[in-house]
Amino acid sequence: TSPLADLDPEIAAVLEGELTRQRETLEMIASENFVPRAVLQAQGSVLTNKYAEGYPGKRYYGGCEEVDVAENLAIERVKALFGAGYANVQPHSGATANAAVLHALATPGDTILGLSLAHGGHLTHGMKINFSGRLYDVAAYEVDAQTHRIDYDALRAQALEVRPRVIIAGWSAYPRHLDFEAFRSIADESGALLWTDMAHFAGLVAAGLHPSPVPHSDVVSSTVHKTLGGPRSGLILAKDEEPWGKKLNSAVFPGQQGGPLMHVIAAKAVAFKVAATQAFRDRQARTLEGAQIIADRLAQPDVAGAGVSVLTGGTDVHLVLVDLRHSPLDGQQAEDLLHAAGITVNRNAVPFDPRPPRVTSGLRIGTPALASRGFGAQEFTEVADIIATALVNGSGTDVEALHARVDALTEAFPLYPGLQQ
Ligand code: PLP
Repeated sequence: TSPLADLDPEIAAVLEGELTRQRETLEMIASENFVPRAVLQAQGSVLTNKYAEGYPGKRYYGGCEEVDVAENLAIERVKALFGAGYANVQPHSGATANAAVLHALATPGDTILGLSLAHGGHLTHGMKINFSGRLYDVAAYEVDAQTHRIDYDALRAQALEVRPRVIIAGWSAYPRHLDFEAFRSIADESGALLWTDMAHFAGLVAAGLHPSPVPHSDVVSSTVHKTLGGPRSGLILAKDEEPWGKKLNSAVFPGQQGGPLMHVIAAKAVAFKVAATQAFRDRQARTLEGAQIIADRLAQPDVAGAGVSVLTGGTDVHLVLVDLRHSPLDGQQAEDLLHAAGITVNRNAVPFDPRPPRVTSGLRIGTPALASRGFGAQEFTEVADIIATALVNGSGTDVEALHARVDALTEAFPLYPGLQQ
């Protein structure tokens, strides 16, 4: 028994069930990860009791001497990790970080230019019913219909035409590096500010396996819980304190938020310490190698013969976008099929998707969580073959046989050994 099980057995059962689910399935949602036990401990701590509106040394509440240490450590560690001169670690989530960035850089009614949601952008980059689409005048750029990559000449022409206040680099579903130098020169030519949202690839940047947007961008935002492998939350960086630091701080608090979540900020500090280690860099390298192994397997003739392909023909990052436009399986069916075999992925619209957004013609498959679990090339080769076998055989798949192969992998790499919820 535990305090939670005694007080609230129903919620205790949810935690237990979720731990079992995470242990017994292959987690391949590209935006998810498994945090270290130390992060769980910091996040589930007495720091949740503390109000600390304001910033370290300048709080609106007494008794902040201990949490100030945590926030300063988080700030200094993340600045060192990304070579940034400014950091704000208070955003509760990626979406609130992004709301604060636009709050600081733009005025409602200004034009913003971000990657279209249907082509891999995020809700906060200008989706119609999101705050970003309601408050700002949205122009969206798209990927090229043939290459499925950003066409920087087309982006330049569009920026010169719409003259945005802010250009947004960053994505939720795009399998290639961004050219931050090109974004910078397009922003300069069109008189725009450049904001990069590196939520998805921040862990790769920290490990030196992806170009860094920090030197090229006016402001960079991120989540902490995707490749970066920390608690669910957001952050904002800039290469220097000037000119945006003060505006960004007041946009986060009191602009968008009240009291910061000090238990989460302490957990961020722990995650940033982990992200500076060689073990973290090795994990990011396995993340990347795993995605490339999956992309290569899904480019084989048996898969192509089933009408399935990989967008852009491969990947530079931690995810693979599967194109099902020519497959009898739609995104929903493919997601359900893999789920039945014990693999969790999400369906995802592909650019120019003929199927409706609730069904889609794509899958987004990511490797960060399995790399955190310890998977390397050998295990990712097996995972890739399980996925390929399911996508080739569709409704004729021997789901039980595939599930047995999934079980062998999850049993060989126990998750959170010894942890009880
Ligand atoms: N930015 C990008 C590029 C994302 O992919 C996401 C999440 O999917 C977010 C921001 C939002 O993060 P959160 O879900 O923490 O609000």
